[in-house]
Amino acid sequence: MRYSLASVLLNAVSGQSRWSPAWRSPEPAAHYDVVIVGGGGHGLATAHYLAKHHNVGRIAVLEKGYVGSGNVGRNTTIIRSNYLLPGNTAFYELSLKLWEGLEQDINFNAMVSQRGVLNLCHTDGQRDAYVRRGNAMRLNGVDAELLDADQVRAFVPFFNFDNARFPIKGGLLQKRGGTVRHDAVAWGYARAADRRGVDIIQHCEVTGLRIDKGVVTGVETTKGFIGAGKVALAGAGHSSRLAAMAGMRLPIESHVLQAFVSEALKPMIDTVVTFGAGHFYVSQSDKGGLVFGGDIDGYNSYAQRGNLPVVEDVMESAMALWPALGRVRLLRSWGGVMDMSMDGSPIIDKMPVDNLYLNAGWCYGGFKATPGSGFCFAHLIATDQPHAVADRLRLDRFAHGALIDEKGVGAQPNLH
Ligand SMILES: Cc1cc2nc3c(=O)[nH]c(=O)nc-3n(C[C@H](O)[C@H](O)[C@H](O)COP(=O)(O)OP(=O)(O)OC[C@H]3O[C@@H](n4cnc5c(N)ncnc54)[C@H](O)[C@@H]3O)c2cc1C
Repeated sequence: MRYSLASVLLNAVSGQSRWSPAWRSPEPAAHYDVVIVGGGGHGLATAHYLAKHHNVGRIAVLEKGYVGSGNVGRNTTIIRSNYLLPGNTAFYELSLKLWEGLEQDINFNAMVSQRGVLNLCHTDGQRDAYVRRGNAMRLNGVDAELLDADQVRAFVPFFNFDNARFPIKGGLLQKRGGTVRHDAVAWGYARAADRRGVDIIQHCEVTGLRIDKGVVTGVETTKGFIGAGKVALAGAGHSSRLAAMAGMRLPIESHVLQAFVSEALKPMIDTVVTFGAGHFYVSQSDKGGLVFGGDIDGYNSYAQRGNLPVVEDVMESAMALWPALGRVRLLRSWGGVMDMSMDGSPIIDKMPVDNLYLNAGWCYGGFKATPGSGFCFAHLIATDQPHAVADRLRLDRFAHGALIDEKGVGAQPNLH
């Protein structure tokens, strides 16, 4: 059923009895033309754009848990395209443009809210860096505004401006940035892909890759062997384990990242703010909870829960920026497994095994990339050529030294 005002009214007068499941739950077929491993945002978006734009035959998405159980349902929902370096700027801007038309494209309310993303600066050097990044963005046709301290104060008046440990000197604002309801993105893409005939198979873990003379021919799963013309890996935090099935070691470490939600409050902050003197960022959900997070936990892990030192660190940063938060109660927290690449930028590329493709290395920032990633990964799978805006997101950049290191911090996941 197509979602529309008419379908809402029809169900309102019929006891909500006419809705059909948002997607089917088929048994896996013996063979697909394309098998996508991982039913997170990226896997599902890839399936949607493959089915919509490319004539590749039958497609399946295999998910070891349920749709939305991974990072796509665990992130802090921020979207933006405020990048400095060639390789990232055009890619993330494509993604933001796709967010802007997403709800019409997939006929699903994903609550796309372009409420702005403001990066605060606290030193002159940091402001210089923001000027440079803002200029790069504008040269690439991306919106960016530099705010001075008074403009920041008028925009977000409740922070500590008068007696702060780290005085606020200004900020870089991207007004088109904002938030999107994360699990609605997973459900919306799943439903849209299903409507185009994609089989979404939940609770189906890929346990091995079958490779014959350097060509992948299918996947071993907990539901048996599934043959495949092409296999696309979109396992996010589990990418290293998937690549190991093909005998490959990726330039990726898996780390836990935590998020926090406060009790529901009246509207306090109508934008997204990042603190420039510590690792802390905050927005407010439509239910009223403050949504915030900070740094990764600092040790390798595949657990979807974090540790207390980072909780303390995030709260300290929060208090330094916004002392009134000391009176707010924390409602809940959780963790997700991040695929931290060694230069902080992602990989969308073919692998050394024929017909095997990789989408990984999303670090803290893969949610905002979801539409762009799916669009470009679908292009690569269908045409065997990288999409023009993703042609630097190659695996061999780590061998050739063509890194895309936004912060210039090298292979240190906690600094990206
Ligand atoms: C706390 C937190 C906050 C974040 N905040 C932001 C933010 O504000 N903005 C932003 O842009 N990004 C953010 N991110 C990052 C973002 O969520 C991720 O980069 C992105 O969601 C990863 O892509 P995905 O949605 O495809 O991942 P996932 O949803 O994790 O999808 C991968 C899927 O692969 C499945 N899988 C793995 N192995 C197998 C297997 N062997 N067989 C079958 N299936 C398998 C997993 O079960 C999982 O469902 C945040 C992440 C976390 C954890």
